[in-house]
Amino acid sequence: MTRDGKGSVGFIGLGTMGREMVQNLLKAGHVVRAFDIVEPAIAEMVSYGAVGASSVSHAAQGADIVITMLPDTPDVEAVIYGEQGLLKSPPPGRLIADMSTIAPAAVRRIHNDLQQAGVSFVDAPVSGGPLGAKNAALSIMAGGDADAFAKAEPFFKAMGTTITHAGAAGAGQTVKLCNQLICGINIQAICEALALARASGVDLDLLRRVLLGGAAASWMLDRLGPAMIARDASAGFRIDLMLKDLKLVQNQAQALDVPLPATALVTSQYVDARAHGEGDNGNQALFRVYDRMTNQIDG
Ligand code: NAD
Repeated sequence: MTRDGKGSVGFIGLGTMGREMVQNLLKAGHVVRAFDIVEPAIAEMVSYGAVGASSVSHAAQGADIVITMLPDTPDVEAVIYGEQGLLKSPPPGRLIADMSTIAPAAVRRIHNDLQQAGVSFVDAPVSGGPLGAKNAALSIMAGGDADAFAKAEPFFKAMGTTITHAGAAGAGQTVKLCNQLICGINIQAICEALALARASGVDLDLLRRVLLGGAAASWMLDRLGPAMIARDASAGFRIDLMLKDLKLVQNQAQALDVPLPATALVTSQYVDARAHGEGDNGNQALFRVYDRMTNQIDG
């Protein structure tokens, strides 16, 4: 990194979130070498000023830090442990930050394996959705060694506004899983309220306005409520990804003997949604499960 705080970033995973985060790193003056297994995603980032990379190891070349933003634990493991992965070809800055939501146990394993190779690893999942990513307003919750976090923080500042070192390796993911547990149950609560109000003949826009002024107000009711009321299932944060996160929550809870009955119920409803072919819909589309239960739609 130069004295004026500009550095070189290898960025892997240019999907819904990654494509916005890369643009903000570029706006902050960093050099970004971007890689994805989907070629047009790379071309799009090149059009914004990134350098296109042809592989994971190519993205890591010359980088102060490599950032990964991938769907799930096996994807991150493939990028770390694969034939051309970061364990074999680490960036010269010897720093990797994974900003995906993955299993805390996998984070601790990756952290230890990289540490033995002299490479620092920070788990830094995010909250705020595609809009937060676009506006560089993500909440970033990090785990890992304090000095590694300090080196990664200037890069996080290009993408987020609330940046917190939550503790040792995996702590960022644990905070994120708590976030997801609350988001899922909150969406479920809104679905239930909408189902009851609709059946009772109450105006749903009015309901939302009133609730936003009181103790039932929430980020989900504010941001996703309009789509839920309009029965708009279009994608933002996909049902498949929410289900992945809720399963991660349950795996961790089971390993620690922590009962999470409300999480178990909402997870089964997301399984129902996916079984009805809705995995690519936005996570607000849980309302379709309630529509089916109240006989509002077929299928
Ligand atoms: P996405 O599926 O839109 O994008 C993931 C990208 O990774 C895709 O472009 C895919 O082609 C690429 N990819 C997969 N395997 C790869 C590999 N081996 N090498 C290179 N590229 C590879 O997912 P997203 O919505 O951007 O989410 C990314 C992560 O962030 C997930 O863990 C998700 O849970 C988390 N997250 C998402 C949101 C959201 O609102 N979308 C919000 C917070 C956190």
